[in-house]
Amino acid sequence: MQQDFANRVVRESARPSVSCRKDSPSSRFSLHAFASKVSASHRMMLLSAGGLLSMVLLVSLVFSGSRVDASVPITKEEWLEVHSLEKTVEHAVKKVTLKSGDAAATALGKLGFPFAEVIQMSKASKGVYPLKNVRAGQTFSREDENTQIHVYYDVNAKQRLHLHLAEGEEVWGAELQQRAVNSRQVRASGVIHDSLFAAALEAGIDERTTMNLIDIFGWDIDFSRDLRSGDRFSVLYEEQFDDEGGMHGSVILAAEFMNQSKSYKAIRYELANGNVEYFTPEGRSMRKTYLKSPVKFSRISSRFSTSRKHPVLGYTRAHRGVDYAASSGTPIRAIGDGRVVYAGRKGGYGRFVEIRHTNSAHSTAYAHLRRYGGGIKRGKRVKQGQIIGYVGMSGLATGPHLHFEFRVRGRAVNPLAVKHAPARPVPEKELAQFKDVASNMFAQLSAPLIALVWE
Ligand SMILES: [Zn+2]
Repeated sequence: MQQDFANRVVRESARPSVSCRKDSPSSRFSLHAFASKVSASHRMMLLSAGGLLSMVLLVSLVFSGSRVDASVPITKEEWLEVHSLEKTVEHAVKKVTLKSGDAAATALGKLGFPFAEVIQMSKASKGVYPLKNVRAGQTFSREDENTQIHVYYDVNAKQRLHLHLAEGEEVWGAELQQRAVNSRQVRASGVIHDSLFAAALEAGIDERTTMNLIDIFGWDIDFSRDLRSGDRFSVLYEEQFDDEGGMHGSVILAAEFMNQSKSYKAIRYELANGNVEYFTPEGRSMRKTYLKSPVKFSRISSRFSTSRKHPVLGYTRAHRGVDYAASSGTPIRAIGDGRVVYAGRKGGYGRFVEIRHTNSAHSTAYAHLRRYGGGIKRGKRVKQGQIIGYVGMSGLATGPHLHFEFRVRGRAVNPLAVKHAPARPVPEKELAQFKDVASNMFAQLSAPLIALVWE
């Protein structure tokens, strides 16, 4: 440890020193700050030393013997202070984005705050936004003014934590600020030739919005098996931007999906009770008891679903199930709420999960798994959409696929024959207003797109 420090000192003194006159006001001020005990002005000085030059000055003053005022005693603690300042010089950054596993102290340290100061900041923000809640991907930034230091943390797209310390103050101030949210409406439509994702991309729709589209129609369309060339879609959505122009969200307001010549329409609507849901133009909920597919459709899984090497078998009497070809490791989700009644190996099924649903006559079975989802055990409750396992080829399987069965009183039936009960519709007394909004939205959705052409 001591050896390390000695090496550092040698390295430091080998650096070209910045010349400065002993009587320059800044150097005297710096030395004064060094000598003083932990007072507000001392802390302010250390913290706002921000500028690279003043730090090099401090370092060179301490390390080049002849320039140090001998009347100022240098205690061990102050050597430690120099040590931390030197680090600040190395990481002279103004913005630090948290990486996975980083604590707030990691980012604040990189912004030049010693740990003791981080503790002060943490105390100040406790009742406003506890620093232990910070998340990877979010950013801390630091702004130094003459007499004040500001630290900002974007809590989310709408709120920002503001920490500040003014010169002469002992305690950090903290408050939440509102961020401005900007949005714009976008309308796009596409026709599927090869894949939904290719068509969406061609229509200028980002992947997030495409995934939202898939989720909205996930109770009606089995995207892994039902898509056909010629299927069409139109989407009216709102893109949201934060006050720095970063896109933070996309919300579908209305959408239509034409699947094998059948039209499905959905509109986003906020009910009087504050719940936001998607409904058909008639006011029926898009949500139903069972999802159409146990395999979550994604850009990656979609590549395999169209592969000719793994033909997707439909339900036949002899087969008694539906096979989903998907790459090994693709997540499998429970198609409805229920309870796990079997999770373990079962002969030719390999790793196998069976779920009994809320309607206790109904159960669903998932076979050939590579592994089980987290916490999936006999007796556990599962929610619709919860990951219960991952596609594999355990048991009697020639390639990775999910063998899926819908069982009524223990007998496998064709899932298409099972009636899906929709969730609660728009309440009667809100229906008139809902229909107004819906017809307005769908008018916007189907209005002809105007193309501007340069001649
Ligand atoms: Zn099968």
